[in-house]
Amino acid sequence: MQTHILGSPRIGRHRELKKACEQYWSGKASLNELLETGKTICRQNWKMQQEAGIDLIPCNDFSYYDQVLDMTLTVGAIPERYKEITARTSNSELDLYFAMARGYQQDGLDITAMEMTKWFDTNYHYIVPEFQKNQQFRLFSKKIISEFIHAKQAGINAKPVIIGPLTYLLLGKEKEEGFDKLDLIENLLPVYIEILKELEKHGANWIQFDEPFLGLDLTEKAKEIYQSVYAEIRKQFPDLKFILTTYFEGLKDNLSLAASLPADVLHIDLVRCPEQLEQVLQTIPQTLSLSLGIVDGRNIWKNDFEKSLAFIQTAVSTIGSDRVFIAPSCSLLHAPFDLDLETDEKTLSPEIKQWMAFAKQKVYEIVALKKLASGNADYQALQQYAENKKAVDTRKVSPLIHNQEVKDRVEVITEDDARRNSPFSVRKEEQQKVLQLPLFPTTTIGSFPQTKEVRTWRSKFKKGDLTAEQYDTLLKKETERTIRWQEETGIDVLVHGEFERNDLVEYFGEQLSVFAFTQNGWVQSYGSRCVKPPVIYGDVHRPHPMTVYWSQYAQSLTQKWVKGMLTGPVTILQWSFVRDDQPRSLTCKQIALAIRDEVNDLEKAGIRIIQIDEPAIREGLPLRRSGWQEYLKWAVEAFRISASGVEDATQIHTHMCYSEFNDIIQNIADMDADVITIECSRSQMELLQAFADFKYPNDIGPGVYDIHSPRVPSKEEMLELLKKAQAVIPAQQLWVNPDCGLKTRHWDETEKALIAMVEASKEAAAAH
Ligand code: GLN
Ligand code: ZN
Repeated sequence: MQTHILGSPRIGRHRELKKACEQYWSGKASLNELLETGKTICRQNWKMQQEAGIDLIPCNDFSYYDQVLDMTLTVGAIPERYKEITARTSNSELDLYFAMARGYQQDGLDITAMEMTKWFDTNYHYIVPEFQKNQQFRLFSKKIISEFIHAKQAGINAKPVIIGPLTYLLLGKEKEEGFDKLDLIENLLPVYIEILKELEKHGANWIQFDEPFLGLDLTEKAKEIYQSVYAEIRKQFPDLKFILTTYFEGLKDNLSLAASLPADVLHIDLVRCPEQLEQVLQTIPQTLSLSLGIVDGRNIWKNDFEKSLAFIQTAVSTIGSDRVFIAPSCSLLHAPFDLDLETDEKTLSPEIKQWMAFAKQKVYEIVALKKLASGNADYQALQQYAENKKAVDTRKVSPLIHNQEVKDRVEVITEDDARRNSPFSVRKEEQQKVLQLPLFPTTTIGSFPQTKEVRTWRSKFKKGDLTAEQYDTLLKKETERTIRWQEETGIDVLVHGEFERNDLVEYFGEQLSVFAFTQNGWVQSYGSRCVKPPVIYGDVHRPHPMTVYWSQYAQSLTQKWVKGMLTGPVTILQWSFVRDDQPRSLTCKQIALAIRDEVNDLEKAGIRIIQIDEPAIREGLPLRRSGWQEYLKWAVEAFRISASGVEDATQIHTHMCYSEFNDIIQNIADMDADVITIECSRSQMELLQAFADFKYPNDIGPGVYDIHSPRVPSKEEMLELLKKAQAVIPAQQLWVNPDCGLKTRHWDETEKALIAMVEASKEAAAAH
């Protein structure tokens, strides 16, 4: 039996890489300093695994920005527009790399960055490879070789991790028409062969190919290429040992394909898809070993040893212990670094902490599991087993987690609870009687600029340098100023500005019960950006109103309508670490009830328009189509539970800020929000077409200007977009608003843009 991990977090124990990169980008640190930081992090990661006793330690899992971009540079798929950067001798390979990641704006050059998108269903973002019709590849960056050599110098014969050729191509984007990226395999494969030759020459024994696409829906063509590519690689390297990894999904219908590829070890994700074990064991040939991904690489809970040992026993008894590998489910990139850094008991109580494991603790779990499973457990492993059992057992019954009242309430939810009293047509009339809004009503998405001052107040308040009263007074002033400004500008539906909020999930997490926060639970989101997701550890409930105070205060200042502002259940779920002892759908329902209570309280407090943001609904979609409907069913239901406790005359808005509604438009309609505001301006209203084709019945606010850029749009531009919208959606259904919240913008841009937006709406109404 052997242990290995697929990859480590690479941002550093104290986010050293983030700091080093940012210093280098701002010219405050030299290239050498940055490289030194990178090397130190690699060595620390290796040493940690060595000390823990991991058998096969990975290299090339480190990256200065993103592992897919590393691969792009390795195979020399550098888009034309960066030619000038490569040509300048003063630039290093890393400068080119960062230019591709972040764009380049100096010495008279202005080159855009490469696109970024989500890595499968995680919150990690990768840089999308760009392919041309006759895309050529060549071995350009030798990072993978130098990392292998570096590990060797540190005394480790490491296992280089490389994105498999099929997965690499499938992650990319065709930048022109008339070809299929999969056909590029012929040009790409020789570069992989060259890389493997060099690695072999330097003494590598093991290679890890990451091929997560083997867990996704594949075309027949892709399946054939998988066969031929790996056959060719095997032919050229009869002596290298290959580990083929899959994660985030089960192999399902690709099992026989994966089992037939000439690898030495196949890694499967038993956290996401535990039910595949039996069938995989029955299917794999004698020549193939199995790597059991049993420790969750994407969450922060302690492993349940008893359960894992049962998995290992099943595998051992079927294929023998020498064909079994033990591993985390996926790379530990998606877990925070070290739980030992959580020393402040006020932030994270010891009782909750004992249930958790970060990346380093997971490495130790893997090693302990091997010792326990192979029957030669030392004192340390036995002690860990006892601790593990105690933690798992206390968690099962802890009153911190289990709240019968919440469980009972979820049990009795009826279909009626998830349905408004009357259909939209009736509600619209009732709402109009109360709200008396003009044609093309104007509104914003919620936040107004979070100036440096506002952020300073918050940090001072948190440090205790401002009293609660002082902080409150400052926020009230800012809120009042924002209300007055919106009144003067003639916006129809006002917002309070969200100045009291740090982040749209954290703010609610801090007020809901059973959310925990960490001091150092950072996870890389993209490049040097890290996030610190809250931890939902028990039955969610709302001990007290969360937003009523601010909404009520804002409404008391004005005769106009102020819109209440909430984050929806799916988004709160999606952007947190969630409990693994019950289905996500159930946790989501609990959050939905908490938000429902808040919606009802807002209504009671006289708020007649309430927005429930759900920007993360789409990213929660399962990786395989076959899982979509089940997910959408509970996600939409959760939204409806949160929104349906109010009178017909109370208007519910929702907001989503991503593209592409085509394939889920029915589900968006099923959410039955009275008004939905969406990001639309960058696509020139093209996204509205899905709503038009569907004959979407409720009201829509397609964003008329892009808030991601400091550029101020003209009234004419917005009128033009409004005309485009009217061409496909009846005017009576349209609202006028920006694409998203304004918190990242400055006041002067915001003022100019919104004044023009209001004028555009008035002109459009007059012309109607
Ligand atoms: N109401 C939030 C805001 O305006 C919405 C944020 C979002 O959609 N991401 O900031
Ligand atoms: Zn948005």
